[in-house]
Amino acid sequence: MTLLLTLLLTCLPIVTLCYIAWCAANPWGTCLRCAPGGHNRTCRACNGTGMRPRIGWQLWTYLSRSHRDGTR
Ligand SMILES: [Zn+2]
Repeated sequence: MTLLLTLLLTCLPIVTLCYIAWCAANPWGTCLRCAPGGHNRTCRACNGTGMRPRIGWQLWTYLSRSHRDGTR
């Protein structure tokens, strides 16, 4: 049990870092609402572009924006 917990605690930061790096390298993902049928001009989630910012990227944008607004 302790071994499993240690393994989990060592893996979690690595996975998080990999996800952050992946988000930084490719911040735009395909839109989940209109991805199966290709681009949908009337899709409101992505404004018809078929591309959507990833959750991690949205979180980063939100955090950097709130930090900028807070320090101003
Ligand atoms: Zn879409």
